[in-house]
Amino acid sequence: MIDFHCHLDLYPDPWSVAERSEQLGVRLLSVTTVPSAWSGTAALERDRIHTALGFHPQLALERVKEIGLFAELLPRTRFVGEVGLDGTPEFRASWHAQVEIFERILRLCADRGGRILTLHSRRATEPVLDRIEAVPDAGTPVLHWFSGSAGELRRAIDLGCWFSVGPSMLAGKRGRALAARMPRDRVLTESDGPFGQVESRSAFPWDVDRAVRVLAEIWGLDVRGAEQQLENNLDRLMETTAGVS
Ligand code: MN
Repeated sequence: MIDFHCHLDLYPDPWSVAERSEQLGVRLLSVTTVPSAWSGTAALERDRIHTALGFHPQLALERVKEIGLFAELLPRTRFVGEVGLDGTPEFRASWHAQVEIFERILRLCADRGGRILTLHSRRATEPVLDRIEAVPDAGTPVLHWFSGSAGELRRAIDLGCWFSVGPSMLAGKRGRALAARMPRDRVLTESDGPFGQVESRSAFPWDVDRAVRVLAEIWGLDVRGAEQQLENNLDRLMETTAGVS
């Protein structure tokens, strides 16, 4: 199982979630929302749990001073996220700070040879894609919980983006239709827990099995075949930054 976007540090008991994930063999990317959370969250790492250095767009304005810490920590990980832009009206006041932080992060990643990036693009698909296009050396973008239009999805595919999809996204018709248009060799699963929900409770990393079942249906494979596809995808994604430091 693969959970490529999980806020492990935000569960009430992160240690037990990390432990259970490891026991179940989940390959997990633990994302963070601010640079100051990175060190504490990295303490949860196991063999299959890696930590991404993040700067969530919703926190860009109030934590703008942490960009220095971001630059300082970047050499320590090949994973960056959660980063991106949020275009919902409640975050309009922070838009300029969001853009400044996101552009800065992409340039820092490019300067270090590229990173694997897990990206937030709610109501901001085009602005996120514009920045990715402007800094192609930033690394390999993985759009988490993509919710744009079919046309925007096409553009993201053409720009080389990958996608992580979870049980919440795939519960609805619209999310399934988008997933069906994604190249199956560039799809990963995610829980987005504890924010992502299944049956009105927080999703856990192992709940990605629900997403795998839907993907199997979409791809016309059995569950084992879909799992194999996803594992191969992650192996390939890891190779995209194999040589960076
Ligand atoms: Mn998230």
